[in-house]
Order: sequence, then C-alpha cells, then structure tokens
Amino acid sequence: MSKTLFLFGSGHGGENPDNGQYVTAGKRSPKHNGKTLLFEGINNRINVKLIIEGMKKSGLDAVDIVDDWRDISLNERARRVNEIAKNRQCVYIDIHSDGMGNGKDWHSASGIGVYKYVFSSSKSDFLAKYLRQELTCNFTGISKDRGIRKKNFHSLRETSCPACLLELGFHTNLEETKLMLSDNWRNRVVKSIVDACSIYEMNH
Ligand SMILES: [Zn+2]
Repeated sequence: MSKTLFLFGSGHGGENPDNGQYVTAGKRSPKHNGKTLLFEGINNRINVKLIIEGMKKSGLDAVDIVDDWRDISLNERARRVNEIAKNRQCVYIDIHSDGMGNGKDWHSASGIGVYKYVFSSSKSDFLAKYLRQELTCNFTGISKDRGIRKKNFHSLRETSCPACLLELGFHTNLEETKLMLSDNWRNRVVKSIVDACSIYEMNH
C-alpha cells in the first residue's frame, strides 16, 4: 500500500452507451474534414484509465473518482474526494485538456499547463512542481510548457487534500489534437504523472 492514495478525476462527461452521444455541450475540438476529432470528456476518461493502470503498475494506489460516462457535478466530485480523504492521505489530480477560440475554427494556442489553487497549500505547491517538472521533461520538443498557474477552480478550492488540475494540450489546435490522440502522447502523459506521483510518494 502506498502512503498516499492518488485520486483522479476526468473532466466533463463521457459517451452515453445507449446512443453513442457525447453528453457535454462544447468541450470538444473543431471539425476536421467534417468530423469532430476529439471530445474532451471522452478523451479525459481514456487518459485517466491509462494513468490509473500505470500508477498501479508502479505500486501507487490510485482511484478514479468519476468512473462514469455521466457528467458528475463539481460538487459531487469534491464531495467524493473529501469523503475518501477523511480516512487516508490523498492527493487529487483533475485531468483536462484546454480550448481557445470560437469552437468552430482551429486556434494556434498550444501547450501543457499545471494549475493550483490561488491559496494553495505547500503540499499542493510541491505536487504542482513535480507534475510540471515531469511533464516538461517528457514533452520537450512535443508540446509547450505553459508553466504553473494559480486559479480559483472549483476542484482545487473545494477539495480538502493537495490538488492540481492539468490541461494536457489544446483540443482546439489541429496539430496538437492529432498528437493528443496518439499512443506516443498518451504514454508521455502516463509516464509524467506516474513519475511525479512517485516523487510525491517518496517525499511526503
Ligand atoms: Zn476541461
């Protein structure tokens, strides 16, 4: 058992298994040759599943607090995290991708960003630092480092344990979206997060 239990949340909703429809408005890439390339919530779920497999392989306990195609409310997500964190040292990592522009046209913004709460705890500061360090190292020459930014996000403000939110690329940038859908990109995401969490596990 690892000292810390690492909790992950996939942003937004997934695909309704009854009709194959993406359940969240917006939060998707523009169309390319008439087809939407990436639905953020569906892609976040793929990434969280792979991250949790990678964490377990490295002996780190990890739980998906969403594990549902439905778009679980932000309040319910925070409630789940705080319930689990009552009984065990936890960390929460909220998995997203970024968007810019009008939703119809591709946009030039790209890169990977790490977010922490405006009044972050020192453990959140360390978590953000390790995540950025490993993401930068694994994405050199692949995607831009957008640094660590402070935001008043619900998932960072309302959770009782150290927390970070990751924007893993821009689903509104055509070139980056193509990369984000590749195994190569996903492997780098998994390696970065597993390595950052391993460092956290060793030091806190
Ligand atoms: Zn998002």
